Amino acid sequence: MKIEKIVNYPMDVNTYVVINDDNKCLVIDPSFDDKKIMKMINQNGLEVEAIVLTHAHFDHLISANTIALMHEVPIYVHKKEVEFLYDGTKNLSITFTRTNSITIDNGVSVQTLSEETKQIGSFSLNIYHVPGHSPGSVAIHFKDAGFLISGDCLFNRSVGRTDLFGGDEAQLIKSIKTKLLKLKPETIVYPGHGPHTTIGYEKDNNPYLRGC
Ligand SMILES: [Zn+2]
Ligand SMILES: [Zn+2]
Repeated sequence: MKIEKIVNYPMDVNTYVVINDDNKCLVIDPSFDDKKIMKMINQNGLEVEAIVLTHAHFDHLISANTIALMHEVPIYVHKKEVEFLYDGTKNLSITFTRTNSITIDNGVSVQTLSEETKQIGSFSLNIYHVPGHSPGSVAIHFKDAGFLISGDCLFNRSVGRTDLFGGDEAQLIKSIKTKLLKLKPETIVYPGHGPHTTIGYEKDNNPYLRGC
């Protein structure tokens, strides 16, 4: 299994494409640059099995509708944020763009996530519910491959902001402490923005996690 990162401008959102040995893939957080994401998928001859969202802020799902329709695949999102997909205020697209409400078409299949081990296509994922940045944030653990996609919960030497709709700082720290810091220190963490890191490095160096 391997993971490819596509950095999207203007907000430096990381889209990840997780690829197995059969060239099947999951697209995680398809952001602004749908052309770059599609090109990567097509050039490598990948078969998209699903789109998975770490949370439903618009910058993490802006290309989800296009890719879901083109590849006829479902979108997976935590059950607490399904309504965000259809609401430009909750997914913040109206707040940030001032004009565009970015939503998912009614014809696109939406599947829900909770804290669970989940089979999606040919992939087995461990889903951790890590509220705090948003109420339905999840971290996606590919246990066998040894990496975690942390969304906007945990970053390299930082954590997600908690001043947006449904954010809660105490809950965020609790989520990281109880769900993520328990993972093996060598687990590679791929965050929603910025460079990757490891659980062990963040335990020792993240200023927001002192005393955790
Ligand atoms: Zn976010
Ligand atoms: Zn983000």
